[in-house]
Amino acid sequence: MASHFIEEIIEQDLESGKHESIHTRFPPEPNGYLHIGHAKAICLNFGLAEKFGGLCNLRFDDTNPTKEEQEYIDSIKEDVRWLGFDWEDREFYASDYFDQLYAWAEKLVSDGKAYVDELSADEIRDYRGTLTEPGKPSPWRDRPAEESLDLLRRMREGEFPDGSKVLRARIDMAAGNLNMRDPVMYRILHARHHRTGDDWCIYPMYDWAHGQSDSIEGITHSLCTLEFEDHRPLYEWFIEQLGIFPSRQIEFSRLNLSHTIMSKRKLLRLVQEGHVTGWDDPRMPTLSGMRRRGYPPEALRDFVDRVGVTKQESVIEFALLEHCIRDVLNREAQRRLAVLDPLKVVIENYPEEQVEELEAVNNPEDDAAGTRVVPFSRELYIDRADFMEEPPKKFFRLAPGREVRLRWGYFVTCTDVIKDGEGNVLELRCTYDPETRGGQAPDGRRVKGTIHWVSAPHALDAEVRLYEHLFDREDPNETDEGQDFLANLNPNSLDVRTGCKLEPSLAEAKPGERYQFERVGYFCADSKDSAPGKPVFNRTATLRDTWAKMQRKTEE
Ligand code: ATP
Ligand code: MG
Repeated sequence: MASHFIEEIIEQDLESGKHESIHTRFPPEPNGYLHIGHAKAICLNFGLAEKFGGLCNLRFDDTNPTKEEQEYIDSIKEDVRWLGFDWEDREFYASDYFDQLYAWAEKLVSDGKAYVDELSADEIRDYRGTLTEPGKPSPWRDRPAEESLDLLRRMREGEFPDGSKVLRARIDMAAGNLNMRDPVMYRILHARHHRTGDDWCIYPMYDWAHGQSDSIEGITHSLCTLEFEDHRPLYEWFIEQLGIFPSRQIEFSRLNLSHTIMSKRKLLRLVQEGHVTGWDDPRMPTLSGMRRRGYPPEALRDFVDRVGVTKQESVIEFALLEHCIRDVLNREAQRRLAVLDPLKVVIENYPEEQVEELEAVNNPEDDAAGTRVVPFSRELYIDRADFMEEPPKKFFRLAPGREVRLRWGYFVTCTDVIKDGEGNVLELRCTYDPETRGGQAPDGRRVKGTIHWVSAPHALDAEVRLYEHLFDREDPNETDEGQDFLANLNPNSLDVRTGCKLEPSLAEAKPGERYQFERVGYFCADSKDSAPGKPVFNRTATLRDTWAKMQRKTEE
C-alpha cells in the first residue's frame, strides 16, 4: 500500500505501464558534508527504489568548480553507505555529461531556442523584471543563430573573460514564472574542475544540467524539495525541446529540525570560524557528526520514516529524533556502570584486600547479550548527585543513616560524612550487609533507592563529553536586529568531564561502540580521540524522553 503521495504516483505509473520499473537518484552537490535533511532525501530515493524493485543512482551535481572538493565526495559516499544504501556501480557525475550538454546547447542555439547574451549580470537582473512587471528583451536576443553559435564556440574556446557573456534559453521574457524569462544556461568561468581539469571554461547552470542529467540516466521520478517547484516548467521545457527521455520532477517538503540549521553555507561557517571542531563535531547536524555522536543509522531511517513525505512545510522537534535514537539504543546498547562526578565511599566493614566479582546483566532487553563481571571492593565511587546530607522528601538515594542498594551489589548504609574545613563533602563512610549480595535481603527488607557505583582501585579514568543543542533557540535563524544565527549558539553545548570513573571492562570499548551508562545516559566511544585502552566517550543522549512526555501532555 502507498504510504505517501509519491508512492501513489509510482504505483499508478507502474500500473498504467508508463514505466516498467522505476529509477531514482540522490543528487548531492559536493560542496559540504551531508546533514540530517539529506538523510530524508537519501532514504526516500533509495527506499523507493528498494520498495518497488527499481534502481537508485548516486549522482554528484558537480557543476560549480570553485566550491567542490574531493573531501566532500568521499564523505558523501561514506555517509550514504553508513545509512545502509548501495548505489552499486551507478556513481555518476554531472560533469560526465558536459560533452552531451554542450552538444545539446548547440542544437538549441541552431533551433533558435538559445542565444549568446552580452549583458552584464546586473543588467540581466534589471532586464528580468519582477513578479508584477514583465521583463524586457536583451538587445542580443534576436541576433542570428549563426552568430550565437559562433560566439558560443568561442566562449568554449576560452576567448572571452569571465562574466562577459552567457548562453541563455530563449523562452518568454513576459512569463509569469521568472524562471522562464530566458534563464542562463552557461556562464564563463576560467576555473579548474576537480574531474574535467582545464577542459572547460564554460559551466552549465543547475537548471540546465540537472534535468538533462536525469534524462540521460533514465530517471523516472526526479524527487526534489519544494523550492524547485517553480523550476519545474523549465525542467520540462528543456526536455521537450530536446525530445529526450521525459524524467518527471516531483517536489516534497524539506526536513526542518528544531535547534538546527541545515544550510551548508552556514554549516561551513561554523567549521571555518572554529565554533565546532569540524564537520564531524558530534554537535553538528551532519551525518558524520551524528555517527560520531553515536546515533545508530537505523534510528535515523526510523526517524525519517516517522516524519513522512508531504508537501507541507513543518519543523520537526529534535526530541522526536532523540526518541528514535533511544528506541534503538534501549534495545541494543549494553549496560555499563560509570560515575561521571565521583564521590569516594569507604565500606568500613568490608575486608581490606578483598575483591569480589559480581555478575551484572549486559542488557535487560536482550537475554542473548549475557552477563559480565564487575569487581567490587572496599573503596568505591558513586555519583555525587546520589548523596544528600539533608535529603528532601522524595530523594530516595543515599543520605546519612539511609540504606540503599548498589546495583548488582549489596545494600549499604551511610554511617559517616567526611568534610573539609569549608563543609564540602570529601568522602562517605558506609557499612554493607554481606547477606544482600546480588541486591536482595534474605529477611525481605526493602530499600527505596538503587544507585550505580564503580570500584575505586579498578576504575578506568576517562574523559566524557556531554553535549547539548548547538543552538539554544528553537529556530536558530530567528535573531535580534543586527545579529546573525551565531548569536544563538549555546555556550553550554559542550561540557568536557575529565576524571570520570568507569567500570574496567570499558577499557576495551572500540571506537564507535555504544553503551548505556546505567542511570546516566547513552554514550559512544569517540572514533577520533579514543586510544587503545583509553576510550573517550561522547554522550549520545540522556535517558529522559522528552518526546514521550510531550506526547502524554498533548493526549491529556
Ligand atoms: P544547500 O541549499 O544548503 O546548499 P542543498 O539542499 O541544495 O544544500 P544538495 O547537495 O543540492 O544540497 O542536496 C542534495 C539533495 O538533498 C537535493 O535533492 C535536495 O533537495 C535534498 N535535500 C537537501 N536538504 C534537504 C532537507 N532539509 N530535506 C530534504 N531533502 C533535502
Ligand atoms: Mg542544491
